[in-house]
Amino acid sequence: MSKITELKQITTERTVGKKCDQCGREERDPKKYEDDWLYFSEGHNGWGNDSIESRHYYDVCSAKCFIAMLPERIKDNDGYLDAEIAEMPVNFCKQLLELVGSQRSKVGKP
Ligand SMILES: [Zn+2]
Repeated sequence: MSKITELKQITTERTVGKKCDQCGREERDPKKYEDDWLYFSEGHNGWGNDSIESRHYYDVCSAKCFIAMLPERIKDNDGYLDAEIAEMPVNFCKQLLELVGSQRSKVGKP
């Protein structure tokens, strides 16, 4: 029996770090991004069976980046059935933003 051989190079992908989807900061220490970062998804059921396609995933490095990202995330999901961001209903996210906004004005930041 003679073998027919082929040399094959296999490329594998592994996570060596994470990048914040808001500010672009990179972190290669798993302990840091596991403890301090938030990995969340958003989605809705507005497109019937295709709703799986409406699910997006994000990494953010801080609560500050999460808040900064919220207005855009709300805009993309608002008005759809069962819309949620990081498992919070869209209307709840709006409340959260308002609250953060009012806290900001209390401490006198521009
Ligand atoms: Zn960030």
